[in-house]
Amino acid sequence: MLAIQKIRLDFPILNQKVNNKPLIYLDNAATSQKPKVVIDAIETYYKTINSNVHRGVHTLSQLATDAYEQTRNKLQNYFNAKHTHEIIFTRGTTESINLVASSFTSLLNKNDEVIISALEHHSNIVPWQLLCERTGAILRVIPMNEKGELVLDSYKKLLNKNTKIVAVSHVSNALGTINPIKEIIDLAHQYDAAVLIDGAQAVPHMQVDFQALDCDFYCASAHKMYGPTGIGFLYGKEKWLHKLPPYHGGGEMIKEVTFEKTTYADLPHKFEAGTPNIAAGIAFGTAIEYLEKIGVSNIATYENELLHYATQEILKVEDVTIYGTSENKASVLSFNIKNIHPFDIGSIVDKLGIAVRTGHHCTQPIMQFFKIPGTVRASFSFYNTKEEITLFIEAVKRAKRMLS
Ligand SMILES: *Cc1c(COP(=O)(O)O)cnc(C)c1O
Repeated sequence: MLAIQKIRLDFPILNQKVNNKPLIYLDNAATSQKPKVVIDAIETYYKTINSNVHRGVHTLSQLATDAYEQTRNKLQNYFNAKHTHEIIFTRGTTESINLVASSFTSLLNKNDEVIISALEHHSNIVPWQLLCERTGAILRVIPMNEKGELVLDSYKKLLNKNTKIVAVSHVSNALGTINPIKEIIDLAHQYDAAVLIDGAQAVPHMQVDFQALDCDFYCASAHKMYGPTGIGFLYGKEKWLHKLPPYHGGGEMIKEVTFEKTTYADLPHKFEAGTPNIAAGIAFGTAIEYLEKIGVSNIATYENELLHYATQEILKVEDVTIYGTSENKASVLSFNIKNIHPFDIGSIVDKLGIAVRTGHHCTQPIMQFFKIPGTVRASFSFYNTKEEITLFIEAVKRAKRMLS
């Protein structure tokens, strides 16, 4: 049992009024709030050890480097990567996917195939389209059914000896579907295809083990797992990271530079050109510690309760359609009310202090599938309460009365 009221005190932002009402923050899939320890870690860094990493012999630079590298070690442990140097710091999920898609250019030939899915965030669609444009490779898409689940039989038919990489999300940000990624990974490996998992929505809600999954790449952002914006990671198996050429060129990523030829730094620095977001990197480590303290399995259990309660209550409202009805879901509730635009519901509940996301959620193909302009999306975190959900449902009912 989580002591929610006590946990809420860790998040200063929650204790305020928005539009004169106590804030109810239900937009956690867009970004999570930050506990005070994470905010403090950023401040402490700038007040005490601010200096550049990996460069200086001076004391502060060494302290900054140690603190920053400590996060890499924590990520390796937390996600059970085999080697620390398999964790590459990036600005977030988007950059991690772009890194792989960009570096894969040299490994693809015309008519090779890249597989993504109907459930992807634009971040896991556009980089692969750009890769296909550069190389003449062909983009294939695993379809989904009406519940918002991937159709694995169709996936099996898409796989063939030309498949070079499969990129799918672990959890859908728009519908909440948890995809059977272990099966997806194992099937791809039968064809020696690499598999990249977009884990942005999975890591805040479940324990992920890279070696058990046997994925080749895994991407996530700190800001959706209680850490700061501007930092995230790419996990890549050592053999792939050796095979891929660097993404960005610059400082930090070289061994030796002459005008004739440059040799690259060892992993992970080969993929980390330029000065990183050091403060955010350090605070990311603090966020991981915080998550470990609360316990991600406690989080999953509690968030599931919230999701079931919210689902049951929203279905009592007339003319509601829920999008994403898989049995296997993380805490995302996407819905519409007949003849009402999602934006109008979002605006009215905002006046009541409730933050939800409305729109296409960077997943326009999903909206095209359901033939809708967008949805209202409430996404829950462990600091949300049943009382907040009750108030949210009341607010939706009120919006419905005003708009119909
Ligand atoms: C948020 C999100 C992204 C993009 O993450 P950034 O932090 O904006 O780079 C990609 N995929 C999914 C599933 C997401 O939820």
